[in-house]
Amino acid sequence: MSDQSEWVQRPASALKGTNCTAEQYEKMYASSLQDSDAFWAKQAERIDWFQKPSKIANWSFDPVDIKWFEDGTLNICHNAVDRHVEAGNGDRTAIIFEPDSPDGEVRTFSYADVQREVIRMANTLKKLGVAKGDRVTIYMPMVPEGAFAMLACARIGAIHSVIFGGFSPDAIAGRVDDCESDWIVTADEGLRGSKTIPLKANVDSALEKVSAKGVLVLRHTGGDVSMTDGRDHWYHELSAEVSDECLCEPMNAEDPLFILYTSGSTGKPKGVLHTTGGYAVWTETTFRYIFDYRDGEVFWCTADIGWVTGHSYIVYGPLQNGATALMFEGVPNYPDHDRFWQVCAKHKVNIFYTAPTAIRALMREGDHHVEKHDLSSLRLLGSVGEPINPEAWRWYHETVGKERIPIIDTWWQTETGGCMITTLPAAHDMKPGSAGKPFFGVQPQLVDNEGAELEGAASGNLCITHSWPGQARTVYGDHERFIQTYFSTYPGKYFTGDGCRRDEDGYYWITGRVDDVINVSGHRMGTAEVESALVLHPKVSEAAVVGFPHDIKGQGIYCYVTLMDGVEESDELSAELRQWVRKEIGPIATPDHLHFTPALPKTRSGKIMRRILRKIGENEFGSLGDTSTLADPGVVDALIEGRKNR
Ligand code: ATP
Ligand code: MG
Repeated sequence: MSDQSEWVQRPASALKGTNCTAEQYEKMYASSLQDSDAFWAKQAERIDWFQKPSKIANWSFDPVDIKWFEDGTLNICHNAVDRHVEAGNGDRTAIIFEPDSPDGEVRTFSYADVQREVIRMANTLKKLGVAKGDRVTIYMPMVPEGAFAMLACARIGAIHSVIFGGFSPDAIAGRVDDCESDWIVTADEGLRGSKTIPLKANVDSALEKVSAKGVLVLRHTGGDVSMTDGRDHWYHELSAEVSDECLCEPMNAEDPLFILYTSGSTGKPKGVLHTTGGYAVWTETTFRYIFDYRDGEVFWCTADIGWVTGHSYIVYGPLQNGATALMFEGVPNYPDHDRFWQVCAKHKVNIFYTAPTAIRALMREGDHHVEKHDLSSLRLLGSVGEPINPEAWRWYHETVGKERIPIIDTWWQTETGGCMITTLPAAHDMKPGSAGKPFFGVQPQLVDNEGAELEGAASGNLCITHSWPGQARTVYGDHERFIQTYFSTYPGKYFTGDGCRRDEDGYYWITGRVDDVINVSGHRMGTAEVESALVLHPKVSEAAVVGFPHDIKGQGIYCYVTLMDGVEESDELSAELRQWVRKEIGPIATPDHLHFTPALPKTRSGKIMRRILRKIGENEFGSLGDTSTLADPGVVDALIEGRKNR
């Protein structure tokens, strides 16, 4: 597509006071490959170690065994909190909390406040019975106490498993059971878009299926909940008399830090395990260079702490850097579609990091929501979670960024711990729709279906050939599944599951998951490409494309399309859109079916579940697979009805 090769220059404003210029990037990237150990030993110097590591990397992808900094000891909570206080920066703002309602109370926590709150939480967990190595399930609303609970676990050496507050009792039970977690931290209720979410009641239902020794309950909304004697404890009661001292437990670099279940767009969620030292170095370094953070700035990542993005870029990355992180309890469209921009203006946000699904949704509602607010504080915009189609990229760039600030499109995964492929704001010009270049130490490789390396400009399966500090070490309790999922397709390489194109400038374009590639009459096409073409049409808000069995072509193209607010569906529009795609990409990409739908099935993290759409496209309604991570099951029922009527 023509517009995909267009450069957008990084604005001059991005170049001032930066952590990394173009020359520095080239030099550092080269040295990160040439002498990886020396490079990472140097980055690791910004971490406070109790015992400095003498060994840097020790890994193999065949057999699979990954270790970084293995004889070092540290505590990531010390690095995120205590050391800033000890360095005299206790007054600096660590967390700004913006509540669900714009009229609610903003709470601000300095690093000294966070230290006090984390110690209180840590000692309360100990009082409950939590010990080093125990798994603690955190099922919390987006409130600072959620972050405190994570940091408290890290402080005492317990392994946290955060479950997004929108998950159902079944999903909680499955995850609690999978990692044999005896302890749960939750709240009475959550609050999103003025609706309450019965967190404690959901935990109670989950605990009819699995057992827990103790449940700690934060009073948040004040809603009514039932408490089981001996098992459930109010946080404010149990914490009333705990000590205000709690040492940070010295952890080996390879001690587990957390388990996080992936969002489940491809199958049964996996308990991805991250360890302490490598993850600390990776999140500290990626945050520093990619977000190019400068002292005093306000950083806002809109993800939930229940996703890896929240772990790495609300909690561990920003706090290890002594940054000010904004935490937002609510949703983008409450009380109105301008909430994100209202919050940006209110707190003078400098760096804003969100997902394409949110960008597309807000774009659909019109520019006036953005234009109402003074967004002059913004210096950098970021995107993560799915390929961002060039149309949405441009809207983000022009309407939100007024063409004066860079966008970073960060490609990464739960399994990678932090960003892997992205432009750096001052080092690289951008191409809308391309994530950009590999971060330090990241060695991407494109391979064909037989695993042979593709050189230069090429399209293929995205693998990583060298370990990086933030890499997941295993699937909790199932190392075999870890090997099977990531290292068996192309032995000796980490396979990401994503398809990707590298252009002549060495920029990477994620084309979607490999499972989603469609093969039309022998032509392989990424679903992202067809979706981008559809979304480029002014009447289309969102599109999801899947393949379906086709007698002649092998696979046909099935497009689910959501229209802009107020646009009526019609046969004429359907024909027009097919022509449109044909013109944008070529006759080979002409859609066979266009299925208008008011909504697409998404995971709770907002990703389109193409796996389910594929089944519906194939008329296979009985075998939709695991649907526990679906945000709104009603959407699927409606789509099935629509399919049957075709
Ligand atoms: P599961 O692994 O359970 O199916 P998931 O892959 O959606 O779920 P995540 O780890 O949250 O879970 O998402 C990582 C995936 O998201 C990547 O593999 C990629 O497909 C997609 N992704 C993330 N960021 C980007 C980006 N900037 N551009 C393109 N795709 C992205
Ligand atoms: Mg995945």
